[in-house]
Amino acid sequence: MPIEICTIGGFSRTEGNSVAIKVDDEVLLLDMGLGMEDFIKHQEDREDVRGKLTYKELQRVNAVPNYDHINDWKDLVIGIVPSHGHLDHVGAIPFAATLFPTAPIVSTPYTIEVLRSILWDEHLELSNDIITVPLNKTHKFSEKISVEFVNVTHSIPHTAILVVHTPYGKVMYANDYKFDRTPVLGKKPNFERLAELEGVDILIINCLYAHAHRKCPSESVAREMLKDVMLNQNCEDRGMIVTTFSSHLARLKSIIEMDKKMNRKIVFIGRSLDKYVRAAERINLVHFTDDIIMVRHRDKINKIFRKMEKDGREKYLIVCTGHQGEKRAVLSRLMRGELDFKFRDGDIVVFSCRVIPVEVNKVNRERLENGLRAKNVRIFKDLHVSGHAALEDHRDMLELVKPKNIIPIHAENEKAQMLADFAKKIGFKKTFVAKDGERFSF
Ligand SMILES: [Zn+2]
Repeated sequence: MPIEICTIGGFSRTEGNSVAIKVDDEVLLLDMGLGMEDFIKHQEDREDVRGKLTYKELQRVNAVPNYDHINDWKDLVIGIVPSHGHLDHVGAIPFAATLFPTAPIVSTPYTIEVLRSILWDEHLELSNDIITVPLNKTHKFSEKISVEFVNVTHSIPHTAILVVHTPYGKVMYANDYKFDRTPVLGKKPNFERLAELEGVDILIINCLYAHAHRKCPSESVAREMLKDVMLNQNCEDRGMIVTTFSSHLARLKSIIEMDKKMNRKIVFIGRSLDKYVRAAERINLVHFTDDIIMVRHRDKINKIFRKMEKDGREKYLIVCTGHQGEKRAVLSRLMRGELDFKFRDGDIVVFSCRVIPVEVNKVNRERLENGLRAKNVRIFKDLHVSGHAALEDHRDMLELVKPKNIIPIHAENEKAQMLADFAKKIGFKKTFVAKDGERFSF
C-alpha cells in the first residue's frame, strides 16, 4: 500500500497527539504530545526531576505517545513535525525524540522556540537536528515526502495545518485550528491555499468540539469581553489581577492594550509567562517587555508587591499564572497569603480562560475561587473564547478541501463518531473512527 497511517496517540483520549505516516519505506511523525493529565500527576509531589525523566518512565505512566505501536517502523522515521507549540502536541519531543535520533525536528519558528525553552527548562539535550520553517513554506524531507506549513489560527502563534505531499497523494493534518477572520495577533488562515489544495486524499482533523453546533468565535470577541470588564468597572482604587494561558500571546496582547487605556503599570508574574513571552520576543513576534515589568523569582516578586503597596495598588495591573487553580502557581499563593500581598475587599480577579475539564482542575479552581470569595474579592470569569474549531468551522474546512477520506483526532471515539455523522450528512462518506494504535492503508 502506498500510504499507511498509524494512529499512535490522540484517538482514544484528547491528549498525547501523534500520528505516523508511512510512504513506501519512509515514515514521518506528526506531533509528539504529552498526556498532560498523566504527566502532571506523575510530576506532582515530586521534587525537582529535571534532567532525570526518561521516555520509558513516562511511557509506563501513559504520559507520552506509545511508540511501541510502530516498533517495525522505528528505523524508517525521517522526520518529526509538531503542528504548534502546545504541550499536548510538542511536549513529548524532549523525551520521545531520543527514540528516533537521526530524524530532524521541523516546525514553525515559535513552535521551535517553545521546544527549545522546554529543553532548557527540563535540562535536556537532543541529538536530533532542529529546523525552522516559515509559515506557508514547504520543507522537503526526501524525494517522496515534503511538508507544507499552511498558516492557520488557534490559541498560540505560528500554528500550522500540515500538508504532507507524496507521489501518491496529499495527507492534510488539521489538528488544533480555528478559522478566525479577525485575529488579534498574526495573520488570518491561509484560505486561498487551502482552497487550492482541494481534493486532499486523507484529512486528519480535530474533533474536540464535534458536539458543538456552532462556529468558534474570533479572538477579537475575547478582547471585547476583556474591555467590557477591565475598562468599565468601578475599580479605580482597587487591585486588579488578570490570569490567562501563558502561551496565549494574542490574549496577553489584548490585556496589555486594555492596560494602556487604564494607565496602570503592568507586571507579569510567573515562570511560564516569562518562558512563553521571552520565546516570542527572541523571534520578534511581540515586544511586550517594552511595556511590561516581568518577574519570575520569589524575592523579586515580593519586592514588586512591596513597591505596589507603597505606590498604591491601583496604579498596577498584575498578570499572573494560576488560572486553573494550580496549587504552586502565583494566584493560589496570593490567595493563601504566601507572598507580600494581601487581598482587600473589592479587589478584582479576572479569569480570561475556561476551566480545562479534568477533575484535578475543577477541584483546584473551586478551592481557589472559594478562597478568593472568602476575602471578598470580585471574580470575573470565563472571559474567553476557545481556540478550537466547532462543527460550522469543520463544515467550512470540509467544503474547502474536499477530502476523500477523513480521520478524526484529539478526542475519544464518541466525538470522532459525531464528526463522522456530521461529515456524512454533508456528503463526506468515508470517515474512519480510530483508536490509538490502529493502522490504515490508502
Ligand atoms: Zn493547541
